[in-house]
Amino acid sequence: MPATGKLAPERERITEDEIESELQRFRVAVEAVAGNLSETGDRLRASGSEEEAGIFEFHVEMAEDPELVSAVEERVRNLQSPEVAVIAVGEEYATEYGAMDDEYLAARADDVRDVAGQISAQLIGRGASAFEALHTPSVVLAHSLAPSDTARIQKGMALGFVTAEGSRTSHVSIMARSMGIPAVVGVGPSLERILDAETVVVDGGEGYAIADPDADTVAEFERLSGSLAEERAALDEYRNVEASTSGGRRIEVAANLGSASEAEDALEWGAEGVGLFRTEFLFMERDDLPSEDEQYEAYSAVARAFGEKPVIVRTLDVGGDKDLPGVDQADEENPFLGWRGIRMSLDTPELFKPQLRAILRAAANGNLKVMFPMVADVGELEAAKTMLQECRKELESEGVKIGEVKTGVMIETPAAAVCAAELAEESAFFSIGTNDLVQYTLAADRGNERLRWLQNADHPAVLALIRRTCDAASAAGIQVGVCGEAAGEPEMIPKLVELGVTELSMAAPQIPRAKKVVSEL
Ligand code: PEP
Ligand code: MG
Repeated sequence: MPATGKLAPERERITEDEIESELQRFRVAVEAVAGNLSETGDRLRASGSEEEAGIFEFHVEMAEDPELVSAVEERVRNLQSPEVAVIAVGEEYATEYGAMDDEYLAARADDVRDVAGQISAQLIGRGASAFEALHTPSVVLAHSLAPSDTARIQKGMALGFVTAEGSRTSHVSIMARSMGIPAVVGVGPSLERILDAETVVVDGGEGYAIADPDADTVAEFERLSGSLAEERAALDEYRNVEASTSGGRRIEVAANLGSASEAEDALEWGAEGVGLFRTEFLFMERDDLPSEDEQYEAYSAVARAFGEKPVIVRTLDVGGDKDLPGVDQADEENPFLGWRGIRMSLDTPELFKPQLRAILRAAANGNLKVMFPMVADVGELEAAKTMLQECRKELESEGVKIGEVKTGVMIETPAAAVCAAELAEESAFFSIGTNDLVQYTLAADRGNERLRWLQNADHPAVLALIRRTCDAASAAGIQVGVCGEAAGEPEMIPKLVELGVTELSMAAPQIPRAKKVVSEL
């Protein structure tokens, strides 16, 4: 059962077979860190900060120092993990520097610690991390899990998650739900108490975990998981139902996808389309950026799998708790209020345009729609549509086959909900992202475990914004879905339908139950 802390490398040793790949991983991490440092140095020099630029240039030299590199490599050959080895070697260097009489050199101790820490962090968080290296099915204990960590775990290797930070709508919960993995998130400091356990059982439904359970508890958990399986089987008859209320309102029930590989499973669960394809995970499960062609393949695979059924592809939504390897994202005081979603895409046409081109091309293979995240202003929607139009023209003049794509907007900022009537004039559909809409409306960070009671779409302020959005959509004659976690919650579904929602999109395993709830309204 691996456990991960914030920056504490959890993997001390490697095996003989791993030496070569770990050496390679270490070299890649050094290169990445040196690259980032030298970019920062160049930027500072360009802005006239000569002295600061010099520090970063010195850090680049340290990161690439041949002696430091070979000392780490030797430790790796002696089966120490590179993330631990680089810290140890950095510490040796720091001690040597610290003991020097020369004040300038003594001050270099902190620099070398800093650089070694960055390389280690790169190895833990960004490289082929311990998550990727997980080869035994295990319960994963972590301080926090970024979506990029979760995306790196191989299928079948995570039996459950327990994290100190997080909430129902943080991305670790969302991903766990769509992977069908039980998760208990936001346990706070009590995580410490189970770090040394041999065995952990996780009840994702009730939200608790027990360390080293006795035989009776294990038997009870086995019984529980049996009855869960029975409950699921009883819902099977709803998989292929086209859900309508008794009053005759047809509600489409669709799936949220994080990758193309989830498409077949989603269809099996009875998805009538994809209400939200979170494309950022395609970007986050690797160290470099996917090319236009690679994106085209991924979007086409989903489009083909769903045939005539609609697939809503959401453009890149990084920022917040989702970092993008390969892109320089400056640290922000408030990342959820920062350079996120459409804001970042509009600022980086070199990222955005290949994605739009790939979507337009893939639309020739199915029924794709495109949706923009984090819109707060009509101008953003107009700018995004202009870029889409530019891409369309470029592809046409290149003679490349493209399809029709309707454009829609996520309503997930209070501003978008308030301006829904204006946005509706420019949109073919809306999809309400309740996860963010709740956090921004109630000013409650969606990942903060202390604010769990506020992370709830069933709040008069949020319901009022949903009503306003539905009314604007209905007046403009466009569809309005919900793709936040509230869409799959049996107690929220009747309220959302009553407010005027026409589509619900959720983690695929929740689809049969949602169809049952709608059919009984
Ligand atoms: C939302 O905010 O409700 C949503 C569906 O988007 P994400 O969870 O990916 O931010
Ligand atoms: Mg969102």
